[in-house]
Amino acid sequence: MKTSLHKQIIALAVTLVLVTTLVIQLTSWWSASEFNKRQIESRTSNAADVVVEFLSLREELLDTASNVLAADFGFKQAVATSDQATIVSALGNHGRRIDADLMILSDRQGELVADTKNQFENISLNRFLEGSENVTNEAHVITIAGQVYQLLVQPVKAPRTVGYIIVGFEIDQAIIERLKQLTGMEVTLARNSNPLLSTITGDDIDAGLSENTLSMTSVWERPRFSTAKINNSRLNSSQVEMFVSADLQPIYQEYDALAFKIITVAISSVLVAVIAAFIFSRSMIRPLARLGEMANRFARGDYQATPVSDSGSAEVQQLSAALMSMGSAVESREHKIRLQSEHDSLTGLMNQNKLKAALSQSFLRWQQSLQVGIYIDNFRQINDQLGPEFADKCLEEIAWRLLKILHPAESYHARFEGGEFFSVFQLTAETPAVNEILDQLEKQLTPSITVNNLQADLDFYFGITFYPQDGHTEDTIIRRTRLSADHARLHRLGMHVYEKGQDEQRLEAFATIDALNQALSTDNGELYLNFQPKVNLQTNQITSLETLIRWQRPDVGQVRPDIFVELAEQAGLITKLTRWVVDKALTQQSLWQSAGTPLHTAINVSAEDICQDNFCRFMVSAAQQHQISPKSCTIEITERDIMHDERKGLMALKQLREAGFRIALDDYGVGQSALAKLKELPVDEIKLDKSFIMKLNESGADQKIVSSTIKLAHSLGLNVVAEGIENEESLNLLLEYGCNTAQGYFISRPLPAAELENWLYHETHYHLPVIATGH
Ligand code: C2E
Ligand code: CA
Ligand code: CA
Repeated sequence: MKTSLHKQIIALAVTLVLVTTLVIQLTSWWSASEFNKRQIESRTSNAADVVVEFLSLREELLDTASNVLAADFGFKQAVATSDQATIVSALGNHGRRIDADLMILSDRQGELVADTKNQFENISLNRFLEGSENVTNEAHVITIAGQVYQLLVQPVKAPRTVGYIIVGFEIDQAIIERLKQLTGMEVTLARNSNPLLSTITGDDIDAGLSENTLSMTSVWERPRFSTAKINNSRLNSSQVEMFVSADLQPIYQEYDALAFKIITVAISSVLVAVIAAFIFSRSMIRPLARLGEMANRFARGDYQATPVSDSGSAEVQQLSAALMSMGSAVESREHKIRLQSEHDSLTGLMNQNKLKAALSQSFLRWQQSLQVGIYIDNFRQINDQLGPEFADKCLEEIAWRLLKILHPAESYHARFEGGEFFSVFQLTAETPAVNEILDQLEKQLTPSITVNNLQADLDFYFGITFYPQDGHTEDTIIRRTRLSADHARLHRLGMHVYEKGQDEQRLEAFATIDALNQALSTDNGELYLNFQPKVNLQTNQITSLETLIRWQRPDVGQVRPDIFVELAEQAGLITKLTRWVVDKALTQQSLWQSAGTPLHTAINVSAEDICQDNFCRFMVSAAQQHQISPKSCTIEITERDIMHDERKGLMALKQLREAGFRIALDDYGVGQSALAKLKELPVDEIKLDKSFIMKLNESGADQKIVSSTIKLAHSLGLNVVAEGIENEESLNLLLEYGCNTAQGYFISRPLPAAELENWLYHETHYHLPVIATGH
């Protein structure tokens, strides 16, 4: 986890204060201990001086007393004569004068002669006498029988040395206490590291015996004393050592007091630092947090931020200003992108996405609305013939005209792809009636458009829906409006108002188309061909078989061919279907041909097929592939399909005829078949529509139409086929009218190949064509 800036700043401040305090503490300890060390050194050397001075003062006393005695004639005499009484009396008198504690006379060999206090009867005095002859006498500190003495040896000369006076003071507890008073330091006397006398009492006494000076480490180790050995010739010659010790306790107390003060100061500094850092970091972090908040708001698309100006450093304010300008730049870019993403760049009208959003909004606000889907039917031709620039100008002009439609309530318009527009008008009690709106729309849109001397008349189809009757969601409304416009276009209606159920039909149609495509692609056996014979009424010979496609859908059953063929035509699937049929039909035909029955076939084709540039080439190569002569193959097409694209249609038929195929004009009589047109069409036969034939025997009108049409067709040199013959009477009437060919349930229903073969070879009395053998 990341430590917050806040905590980091506080930690930094505390660390700084602590380090500073520690350094101060250490330096003050160091300087205090240096100072104390020097103090103690000087005290120690002073104390040593005092002690030496003290000893030498006493020495002088000893020296004077012994000198006087040694010079005393009477005393000398007494020594020479070994007058014991006089010696003792003289020693005692002189000793008392200086209050000596020790007054002894020894002979030259060191044997005790007299002792005023009778203390040293059995002691050899030799060790005191060594060298005392020549050297200037000094009083040495020594121990005798556990007591410490300062003593001096003086030879008695008469004139030869006849003995030695030994005179001394005892150094006892009182003396060292006195010295302590004089020096202000503890005084210790020791011999071979064993304490003899000391002003230090208790366990600490050992501390007065070893040399020790004050140092930095004393702070931790805390020795009780700083001790120094006094170096002096009077002491050095004997085994007695003398130490002065400074008590360090007060210094430690001083240290501790100082340390306490420093720690107190440190703690309060840390507290102050924490508070200061807290305040500082808050004042620094708050604007940072606000910057973060600002960035988050931008991320959510809210650019209405206020700059961080009230607090924060110059850097924070710079950052804030930079963030603000970034925000507004992003906002304006976003705005631009939104505009581009919501509008059609050419016309400036809404695009489909925006239209959806607008619809979902207006559905909330408006009780009722009218949606008009607008198609320019001939937009592709205009684009092809007059160029895309002109087409674009047309679209712009239409957008402009839509915007000019006066509508008191609200309305809006969108453009989809190509020549497809979409308008929405609010409907209220105050708005014009729907008819008026549509009239206005038509009036605005239909006038021809002229750009740079080029003029175009646009054909429109309108699809109409009403909200809420025709759907509640924007997707449904858009889909149904487009569907209605599509319907208008397909059925050449100009305008179509959505009818209930159309959408569902369309969905079903989509599913059907999908399944049909699947069936065609996989050739899964769902599709097959039926064949229906056409009989030559003059010869009673079966001249040809019309191939009719069948579709057995699993779960659905038989689908009517007129329905799925039409769907295939609408979905652009018809060429695929036709090619499948041609292949299957010619395959079957070639099988029959090989079996010795050269039956002709008739194949139904659609407008889309013959409009394809390579349709004739396809037919020719299919015939070649199956070794079928084009002469034995008729192509059935309706007049409406030929006229769908007249130029292409006629050209295709001519090509097919030139290639040898026969052409039959299917469903003749329905629609606007103009007799005059008939003679221009490149066809070989006409098929009278079954609607005239099925009830021919009953209908006088049909009889008139049929008989006159047959006459006319014959006069044009055309063969006439009657389809839909359901009874003998009708067949006989047709025979009477001179009709050439008959087809219908009365002769045979359309049958699968196998069943048809059975009928052909076993059941019918009609003749079959046979391959001429040449005999
Ligand atoms: P169409 O080309 O006019 O085909 C003749 C229709 O009349 C066939 O209907 C046939 O079964 C029916 N018919 C024949 N004799 C009689 C009769 O005596 N009485 C009655 N009531 N009907 C009779 P079908 O097979 O249902 O085909 C309907 C339409 O589907 C066809 O009309 C044709 O336009 C289309 N069609 C069928 N097969 C194909 C095909 O392979 N390709 C194309 N493009 N269209 C096809
Ligand atoms: Ca037909
Ligand atoms: Ca027909």
